[in-house]
Amino acid sequence: MDGGLENEEEVMKLFEKCPICGGEVVEKEVEKLLKGNGNTAVMKVKADVCLHCGERLYSPEVIAKFEDVRKRLREGKINDFIEIGKSYQVA
Ligand SMILES: [Zn+2]
Repeated sequence: MDGGLENEEEVMKLFEKCPICGGEVVEKEVEKLLKGNGNTAVMKVKADVCLHCGERLYSPEVIAKFEDVRKRLREGKINDFIEIGKSYQVA
């Protein structure tokens, strides 16, 4: 596919197109599951989501937050995390 972009407006988008399939991406708020030490945290973040294949693209700041949350899960520093339920694994 080779649809050229016509408008040159300045948008604060990380990706103009999906790097996987070349599809159009839109910014959305998504829920990301983060795991560490058997625990799971859910985090709402902004991501660019591909309308075609569903790929989620995160900014470096958001990825750094993920790493921080995973580290805190591993180290048990979860005092200010809000408990929302239990997680189960299904074989
Ligand atoms: Zn895509």
